[in-house]
Amino acid sequence: MDFEQAATFQPTPIVDPFGRSISYLRVSVTDRCDFRCVYCMSENMTFLPKADLLTLEELDRLCSAFVARGVRKLRLTGGEPLVRRGIMTLVRSLSRHLATGALEELTLTTNASQLARYAAELAGCGVKRVNVSLDTLDADKFRAITRWGELAKVLAGIDAAQAAGLAVKINAVALKGVNEDELADLVAWSHGRGMDLTIIEVMPLGEIGENRLDQYLPLSMVRARLAERFTLDDIDYRTGGPARYVRVAETGRRLGFITPMTHNFCESCNRVRLTCTGTLYMCLGQEDAADLRGPLRASEGNDLLHAAIDEAIARKPKGHDFIIDRRHRRPALARHMSVTGG
Ligand code: SAM
Ligand code: SF4
Repeated sequence: MDFEQAATFQPTPIVDPFGRSISYLRVSVTDRCDFRCVYCMSENMTFLPKADLLTLEELDRLCSAFVARGVRKLRLTGGEPLVRRGIMTLVRSLSRHLATGALEELTLTTNASQLARYAAELAGCGVKRVNVSLDTLDADKFRAITRWGELAKVLAGIDAAQAAGLAVKINAVALKGVNEDELADLVAWSHGRGMDLTIIEVMPLGEIGENRLDQYLPLSMVRARLAERFTLDDIDYRTGGPARYVRVAETGRRLGFITPMTHNFCESCNRVRLTCTGTLYMCLGQEDAADLRGPLRASEGNDLLHAAIDEAIARKPKGHDFIIDRRHRRPALARHMSVTGG
């Protein structure tokens, strides 16, 4: 029996024990990627066997169950979402919730390597904006950071997205000694092209074969440096996520700072994260997770799934506690960012 027709279960909005409504779901549709960014992955990653992945139909069913429970924003991420085979089938299918108004926004975080190919189709599905990760405008540095990436392809992807009418937001990870000199130029470039920019502090997720302390650059320092060139006015703009925003007076556009290490953003958290194997993480910074694949596959109806979602949300923690373990030089969490997609 389909959940929508079930007499036993009424779809109620999801609210956690701290009164936070869960209206935002991020879905990592694959753990694979065509890049190997130094802060995200090791060069020799072991990926999940394909058999462990949820099918596109299962991903659709899971996302739709969350939409029925009041999730208004869906973000597809990864790994690289656009390298998942058949991804546009999922996007097209999920876009029906935009058409009914159940879903306010369907969006994507991407490295843009494949965006030139998909931008028009994404726009055709009702996707209005995408986040593109780009840490540098120097092709050699770009290759060094991503190990395998080609800057020209990414820039072509951004061009195609803008040509298709998609709003683009740039995300850049601040890396000590790598792009710290370039961040002001990245602000000028993004804003000059009509794109907001968010700068992200590196987070201690996953063994990556590099030393986190070498990468870590506190955003307080980044901000102080940017303030030498720009006038940064604090604004109240909030998305329920970890970013804090300023308006850059010279450009009139928004600049975000995501500072999980130095700032607590949990009190307004409205989100949960689903992996491509159907594991639900209630918090980016904690290991606790719930398996939704079992209940999803256990029956055709969604009663078991909804019960599992309720049980999981009841365990959503009040907040996280990221630390870089200086003594043992270990990440605070063993899983990689590509598992939950940031
Ligand atoms: N592949 C897509 C991309 O790069 O946009 C989506 C997935 S990626 C894991 C999502 C975001 O997480 C990217 O903006 C990336 O820069 C960021 N990220 C990855 N590892 C990180 C880390 N250890 N600390 C901070 N941000 C990280
Ligand atoms: Fe791939 Fe994105 Fe991770 Fe870079 S940050 S390796 S593009 S998943």
